[in-house]
Amino acid sequence: MLELKAVNAFYGKAHVLNNLSFEVGRGKVVALLGRNGAGKTTTMKSIMQMIQPRGGKVTYQGQDITGWAPHRVAKAGLGYVPEERRIFTQLTVLENLEVGRQPAREGCVTWTEDMLFDLFPNLAERRGNRGKALSGGEQQMLTIARTLMGNPALVLLDEPSEGIAPVIVEQMANVILQLKHEGLTVLLSEQNLHFAQAVADSVVIIESGTQKFAGSLTELQENPEIRDAYLSV
Ligand code: ATP
Repeated sequence: MLELKAVNAFYGKAHVLNNLSFEVGRGKVVALLGRNGAGKTTTMKSIMQMIQPRGGKVTYQGQDITGWAPHRVAKAGLGYVPEERRIFTQLTVLENLEVGRQPAREGCVTWTEDMLFDLFPNLAERRGNRGKALSGGEQQMLTIARTLMGNPALVLLDEPSEGIAPVIVEQMANVILQLKHEGLTVLLSEQNLHFAQAVADSVVIIESGTQKFAGSLTELQENPEIRDAYLSV
């Protein structure tokens, strides 16, 4: 579904991603793990072409999307949920969802508000409330729900469990498993190994923009030294 081949990214002269190469299979949940500043957000933005990789290739459904404009990448079916929640605080929950609406996409779930309210019951109760009245966790859910209104085939979730209450983290894990059940492909970035363990089929670990491990959770468990070296647990 998605393949990165020797992707390099820079901020000015700073070389932030070094030859990242990994795959995300259709219908799979892959966790991109690494500590603060490891390069997770930069990887997400490089996939979306919000940062244009210098060297390397990003392939989505067999198409080379490197150098595409970000809106074209989104239109092709990649939904990006940034770490900072970008909801419209003056609009209601329903209005925020409406903003995200895109035409149906062949082979993908066509989301309706009611389906999203089933997935996020907290939002259902608050559908008439303005964004600014929501808790951090609810805003995070609304950001995801609004992205789903675009009917993506692949969702990129940047640190979905960051800064939200434990009870909401649990709901978030259930949402991701539900998305997988619906046939979506998910790439999420995380610092929290426990969260990744609850939802992911496989993991990619990066440190200083360099890939240190790619494999299944079982393989990671068999190599505790990798976990100890590159993750905070
Ligand atoms: P976090 O968990 O803090 O979001 P991350 O793994 O997502 O971390 P990135 O945000 O991708 O890491 O940052 C990777 C590196 O790039 C860090 O060293 C960071 O300081 C640097 N960096 C990030 N954004 C910029 C920028 N706009 N300009 C220059 N350097 C940047």
